[in-house]
Amino acid sequence: MVAQTHHVQWIEHAEDKHKNVVLVDWMLGNRCNYACSYCPPALHDSTRGWQSLEFVVGMIEALREHYQAGMGSRVWLQLTGGEPTLHPKIKEILGAARARYEG
Ligand code: SF4
Repeated sequence: MVAQTHHVQWIEHAEDKHKNVVLVDWMLGNRCNYACSYCPPALHDSTRGWQSLEFVVGMIEALREHYQAGMGSRVWLQLTGGEPTLHPKIKEILGAARARYEG
């Protein structure tokens, strides 16, 4: 089982048009099809599995409810890895995010 950890840090942007944005930098896993020399192995050595579609969609919904609906903030969702496009359910993840954060 992959340990789920999170860290929340608040930094308010100086420009009004960028205020009230919550940036979520989310590692879906640590698998990558590259091994860049400057990249720590833990970010690309495939030692952790991908987070499940159900978990990711549940967290996307929880973020929307807490920050967007609850606090009136905009959520900037940034998916990383590893290489997040290698996630076997990346299309479904992006579709879930689009459905909750667009329009
Ligand atoms: S995660 Fe990014 S930086 Fe690291 S090996 Fe893959 S492409 Fe390179």
